[in-house]
Amino acid sequence: MMRADIDVRVCEVGLRDGIQGIDQFFPTDKKKAWIRAEAAAGVREIEVCSFVPPSVSGQFVDCEEVVADALKLDNLTVSALVPNLRGAERGFATGVNKMNFVLSISESHNQANVRCSREDSLDRFRQIAELRGSTAENREVTLAVGLATALGCTIEGQVDPGEVVRIAERLLELGADELAVSDTVGYANPTQVRDVYRLLRRHLGDDVLLSAHFHDTRGLGLANVHAALNEGVRQFDASLAGLGGCPFAPGASGNIVMDDLVFMLEAMGLKTGVDLDALVVVREIVAAGLPNEPLLGAIAKAGLPKGFAAAHVAAATNF
Ligand code: ZN
Repeated sequence: MMRADIDVRVCEVGLRDGIQGIDQFFPTDKKKAWIRAEAAAGVREIEVCSFVPPSVSGQFVDCEEVVADALKLDNLTVSALVPNLRGAERGFATGVNKMNFVLSISESHNQANVRCSREDSLDRFRQIAELRGSTAENREVTLAVGLATALGCTIEGQVDPGEVVRIAERLLELGADELAVSDTVGYANPTQVRDVYRLLRRHLGDDVLLSAHFHDTRGLGLANVHAALNEGVRQFDASLAGLGGCPFAPGASGNIVMDDLVFMLEAMGLKTGVDLDALVVVREIVAAGLPNEPLLGAIAKAGLPKGFAAAHVAAATNF
């Protein structure tokens, strides 16, 4: 849940989304160090792994160990991606706080990404939600769903916003607690972001937690964040140093950069709870764990503006 002492919740996804496509194994001790340092910098939610079988990805063979270590930290929501019921069983066994399931709004993308139809994905989510409801302990776990390709698809091109609403309604009926509107391939523009959140609000009401998972593949990541802020969105995924490029465009950027996101929010007077100086230092752990990966981000390179004041020390909130 949103804590009253922050205005916007930022969620680190680099340890899952950022490294899932990287062949080089990120050492377990450095994953733990990254999580600890970023939590200490004030980030309240970190997606720490993906419960996929080792045959799918060797990057996540240490899920159980990484989750157990992260759960020792105070003030941190530990989340993990679960692709199916088997992954969710492993997730519940670890005591993870939140599980993220992903479904593509584009039928072709869902087939390409998880090799099943959207209907089959909805059925997988139904199984996970039933398992969540089966014990008091499981019911403590939050279930979020990423609406992948909600703003465009590399296979189908434009995506019908009506389909985003239709799938969102199905997921809520099945028990989803949060929906992350995801610009998986970085096609979105701010006007489109505004329109899709307005449409979702109109159909889903004010109580549904809608978050945002944006990519910066075409340079509009933070512009899209601003558009979502204007629509009342207060929870954003991002990846430290923009880790994890775009699998469809080699060399291009992927997830929005966490450090730049925090800078923008704090500069606008919105409290994230994150110490920007401490956050930027965490990049060194990422660099040490993945020496061949390019680290993105403008603030880390340019430094903070002279006279910059973080939101909690700024005189007034003007947003
Ligand atoms: Zn992403």
